[in-house]
Amino acid sequence: MSSPSPKDVRVRIAPSPTGTIHLGLARTTLFNWAYARHHGGKLILRIEDTDTDRSIPESEEQILEGLTWLGTQWDEGPGVGGPHEPYHQAQRVANHTLAADKLLEAGHAYRCFCSRERLNDLRTAMEAKKETPRYDRTCRDLERAESDARAAAGELFALRFRVQPGETVVNDLVRGKVTFQNADVDDWVMVRQGGNPTYNFVVVCDDADMQISHVFRGEEHLVNTPKQILLYQAMGLEAPEFGHLPLMLGKDGKKLSKRHGSVSLALFREAGYAKAATLNFLARQGWSLDGETEIFSMERFVEAFDICDVNKAGSIFDYEKFAWMSGEYVRLESLAELRENCTPFLIASGLLSAEQIAADPARLEGALALGQDRIRIYSEMPEQIAFLYSADDAVEYEEKAEANCRKHANRIQILKDYLAFLRPALEGGASAQDLRTAAKAWVGEQGLKFPQLFQPLRCALTGKAGGPDMFDIIAWLGTGSTIRRIELGIERLA
Ligand code: GLU
Repeated sequence: MSSPSPKDVRVRIAPSPTGTIHLGLARTTLFNWAYARHHGGKLILRIEDTDTDRSIPESEEQILEGLTWLGTQWDEGPGVGGPHEPYHQAQRVANHTLAADKLLEAGHAYRCFCSRERLNDLRTAMEAKKETPRYDRTCRDLERAESDARAAAGELFALRFRVQPGETVVNDLVRGKVTFQNADVDDWVMVRQGGNPTYNFVVVCDDADMQISHVFRGEEHLVNTPKQILLYQAMGLEAPEFGHLPLMLGKDGKKLSKRHGSVSLALFREAGYAKAATLNFLARQGWSLDGETEIFSMERFVEAFDICDVNKAGSIFDYEKFAWMSGEYVRLESLAELRENCTPFLIASGLLSAEQIAADPARLEGALALGQDRIRIYSEMPEQIAFLYSADDAVEYEEKAEANCRKHANRIQILKDYLAFLRPALEGGASAQDLRTAAKAWVGEQGLKFPQLFQPLRCALTGKAGGPDMFDIIAWLGTGSTIRRIELGIERLA
């Protein structure tokens, strides 16, 4: 397939403001954005707020904020403007009405005067016969004069699309050729009784008006695509290209839902997943760089992304792997970045106040460096470094840490002897590296095994059975705290 020329690529995302950003929308946005960036095209954001019953006012704000956070900046749309304003579907009613009138005039649409009761009865009867419910086309062949007269007399009607016999082919850029029999496509409602237009109708009006070249969206919309293609044909317009992105699945192979875990982008953000990992992980949902590389930058993604490489099979959203990937990105961060990203979590946990953080950012960075290798998401940081900030006499000893110490009968004597050895070195300003080398040598000279010193020492200093390197901890705590904690350990572990 030849690549489209840059000026041709106009892709869009068209969220309905009915909730917060879920993972599906985030992934759809990312793929559209990457395609636009790869081809030097434009990403358009259109808010599909036509369904006023389902639209929630705060939802749009949350979607815009979430997309801004992701960094998948749109080129046209709310807050940015553009040549096809307005970018809110509900404000484009005049265009929709005009299109509906034209389609009615040309005979591609017809008025349906069937009452809701009649349609309900029809549906119930078909369902009882195990048939797919569909309109029986009662009003399809009404004389135009009669239809006009009934409308003029104020009778309520819906506008339906007149599906012609034949078949409709979707040359899907992800799924390949998918053929639909028009006989299976209902004479669907374009405008409901009372005047509310439906999604399939207005999405085509707006995509056409906004000169959208490619429509990439979730697989659940594939069933709508023949209806939309038929509408483009009826309007005498060339349909855009379509590509339907595979479903995201849970590990059990079922469509990803709240049962599997959070599906809201906001919740992952609140839990402190690294943003770069979120983008990278979403990019892996149905696409892969080379079949094996898991970690790649967005630059690399944009450079390599082609819609034709997207898999049609559903992609498994593995929560554990997502957390792992977040950890990989956390480790790549500079300490200043880590401080910025962890700050909200440190404050929310009550470990540190904003004032404490601002007063000595370098000291905090030293603590974060100790936790950096040990967390996957930022919200795990407070617990990792809490022992550093506890008062010396309030270090909590974990059961396991204390049990480890109590295995060594001569622990108190060892701690006392080591403290006597350590004190002058600390007071002389020895580095973590010097202390480490000296401690190893000392253990040997005393004829001890490492755990005999290190388990009681770690317990006294941190209260934990495991954790960051002990001498880095000593360097962070400083002479006073280190000595006090060991002295207290000698009492508490007796
Ligand atoms: N408003 C539709 C949705 O949120 C847009 C679907 C499409 O991309 O055509 O599902």
